[in-house]
Amino acid sequence: MSLRSTNIDKIRNGDFDVLIVGGGINGAVSAAALASRGARVAMVDRGDFAGFTSMQSSNLVWGGFKYLENYELALVRHLCMSRNRLIKAYPANLREIRFLAALDEHSPYKPWFAGLGSTAYWLIGNAKTRPPKVYSKKKLAKKEPIIQMDDVIGGIEYSDAYVVDNDSRFVFQFVRSALNVGAACANYVELTAAYRDSSGWRAELRDNDSGETFECKARVIVNAAGPFVDDLNKALDIKTDHQIVFSKGIHLIVPRLNKNEEVLAFFDDTERLFYVIPMGSRSVIGTTDERVSDPVTHVETDDRDFLLEQINARLDLPEPLTPDDIISTRCGVRPLVVERTDDSHAETDWTSLSRKHAIEVDPSDSFVTIFGGKITDCLNIGEEICDAALELGVRLDKDRNDWYGEPPKATRDEFFRQARLMGLNKLRKRASFETLSTRLWRRYGMRAFAMLEAIRDDPTMADEIIEGAEYVRAELFYAAKTEMITKLDDFLRRRSKIALVLGREVLSDADGIREACELLFGDDAQRRIDEYFAADVMAQDAGDPSAR
Ligand SMILES: Cc1cc2nc3c(=O)[nH]c(=O)nc-3n(C[C@H](O)[C@H](O)[C@H](O)COP(=O)(O)OP(=O)(O)OC[C@H]3O[C@@H](n4cnc5c(N)ncnc54)[C@H](O)[C@@H]3O)c2cc1C
Repeated sequence: MSLRSTNIDKIRNGDFDVLIVGGGINGAVSAAALASRGARVAMVDRGDFAGFTSMQSSNLVWGGFKYLENYELALVRHLCMSRNRLIKAYPANLREIRFLAALDEHSPYKPWFAGLGSTAYWLIGNAKTRPPKVYSKKKLAKKEPIIQMDDVIGGIEYSDAYVVDNDSRFVFQFVRSALNVGAACANYVELTAAYRDSSGWRAELRDNDSGETFECKARVIVNAAGPFVDDLNKALDIKTDHQIVFSKGIHLIVPRLNKNEEVLAFFDDTERLFYVIPMGSRSVIGTTDERVSDPVTHVETDDRDFLLEQINARLDLPEPLTPDDIISTRCGVRPLVVERTDDSHAETDWTSLSRKHAIEVDPSDSFVTIFGGKITDCLNIGEEICDAALELGVRLDKDRNDWYGEPPKATRDEFFRQARLMGLNKLRKRASFETLSTRLWRRYGMRAFAMLEAIRDDPTMADEIIEGAEYVRAELFYAAKTEMITKLDDFLRRRSKIALVLGREVLSDADGIREACELLFGDDAQRRIDEYFAADVMAQDAGDPSAR
């Protein structure tokens, strides 16, 4: 029986303290935090976990330097503290990274002023990262030769952090953490209706893979549906003081542009910051910020051409980037919270809209809604949801802060000792950016010990199944059992970043795909391959529910 079937069995006719609707970052941290404190939790997502917004972020864990422009000091302080806490809790998964911002005549700030801002930013973050620097034009050119220097007058360097693997994999760690302490979580399960009576909520659910419908009961519902929170509240007749508006952002993934492990930052022609972010052997260019009314978005030709034009003007590349260089794309909407108004376009200064989140608790309906949020702020959201559950009468154990974070240093040292003694990194030629032991530890923590064991038994377990995928056979065995991979896209795009790094064209011809699918899906392998390659690529990239 698969992990997913076991969890659906638990949810079917189950009686829970809390039912969480949505398995993006907000739903996942809520499930992990509540379940670790003894609540009986169910969490469902109508697509895959992190299958919508939470797989489309810039992968940055940051204090929001750019929000200083709007003097949002309290927000920046709050996000810097969240960032610091995450970096401390996830030393292998999140890394401090330098941002190198090139400033030209048209930039809104001179280097000295940006330098002052970056010092203020550093101090607001309690100086926990490396200190910022200001560069003259000459020094900047030496530091990063890829920058087109013609109009540049200088630059600054400061620190934030990034998710080394992928946002969606980071989210899945919280799903795993929730499963480990008894939560019942299932992907491809949709809440279709819910009714409230004196004993609590009765929820109607549908398995979107098999079509089966079933029910469960819950005392409290947490609406963590991201861009769909308002739709769900409307369907359940829940009234709120806030609502969501959408800001679309796209990213283009291209072959690695610069050697240094740093983020390059530039102001685009509209004076908005955009970035070149490292992703292993690739670079990610983005993002954009455009108000839209539909949460399901796609990379349009105009968006793509705008980003290509901006980056080509700012980098000194042997050949300008063209659409043919794009390996894959990311596209999503930021769910931004605003006060509810009858006029959905009342907000005029769009880019200055705050990136805060709001949690509304409705005691009369035992209902909680999470509006907005960021991956950076996820630990706070988990804690705030526990406070909300307590307010609604759910009994929780004391918070031991054990629902997040990596294993202690002594465990880590033991893993690397064993890996070194068995010669793990000699079994595989060093990947360009990191060793196999570093990768396995980051992705699996404690569970990576079992992979060492499997590789000791059978060294072919350290072989890459799909060339260039940075994913070895042992990981596939593990993923098949413990990562609730239901469709091929769950594996290629979210538990791993293979689809982003290799692109669909390469994957359609890749030798290892069949073996990978046989390991993951057994007899169902061919159906899952056909389903993946037949799906509308753009819709699937955008997490469009209709493409599932
Ligand atoms: C372009 C872009 C760049 C960003 N960059 C960053 C960044 O660098 N750093 C950062 O911290 N943040 C960033 N963000 C913000 C961050 O990604 C989002 O705020 C966050 O992912 C939202 O998570 P969520 O859980 O609220 O929503 P989602 O991830 O969208 O999750 C909601 C889930 O609810 C499910 N759902 C909806 N209705 C139902 C139903 N009826 N039944 C079951 N399931 C349902 C959906 O399928 C979906 O998976 C970025 C966002 C974008 C778009």
